[in-house]
Amino acid sequence: MLHLGRVVGPIATNVQILADERTREAIAIDAAIPSLAWIGAELAERGWTLKLIVSTHGHWDHIGDNAALSRETGAPIAVHPLDRDRLINPAPVMAPFEIPPSVPAVELAEGGQIRFGSLRLEVLHTPGHTEGSVCLLAADDGLLLSGDTLFAGGWGRVDLPGGSAEQMAASIIRLGGLDPATRVQPGHGPATTIGREAPWIELVRANGRLFA
Ligand SMILES: [Zn+2]
Ligand SMILES: [Zn+2]
Repeated sequence: MLHLGRVVGPIATNVQILADERTREAIAIDAAIPSLAWIGAELAERGWTLKLIVSTHGHWDHIGDNAALSRETGAPIAVHPLDRDRLINPAPVMAPFEIPPSVPAVELAEGGQIRFGSLRLEVLHTPGHTEGSVCLLAADDGLLLSGDTLFAGGWGRVDLPGGSAEQMAASIIRLGGLDPATRVQPGHGPATTIGREAPWIELVRANGRLFA
């Protein structure tokens, strides 16, 4: 599996492309504005076909180029049903530009699998940042795409629309149970590993809730 990443937009969103180089099938994750040109260039240069556009959740800094990218490539858009409405009716609070609506055609549900060629991603429903936030686990590659749920050094915000501190604590505790060697690529900021985050995750587990 090949993994490309780029930081885009006013909130420095990590946009990801995962691909099977043999079958030349690719998926894009969190097509924030402006990622259309970059994703298009990578696909063209490498001869890859985009099969799916995944939104880890429905906040505006993760979905803005969904519609344009889907139109350009024909790839359907996938999101958890609980965040589906955020794509159809974007709520661009504080966004410096318009966020075009997009219509998801694929449901990401807990336990579901995304499979293209050798790409195998398991869907973990990890609410807390939003109701329908998901993480994607590429277990064969030891990689977790954690969206805005787990960052290097802490959890995602729970004070935005759809947030819940109780659900976030449960999701963080769950992620803390993954193999410590798992590399973590969040929706913002640097990559990390489950093992590196384990000390504070253990505090959340011991308290049974987020701590100040
Ligand atoms: Zn978010
Ligand atoms: Zn974000």
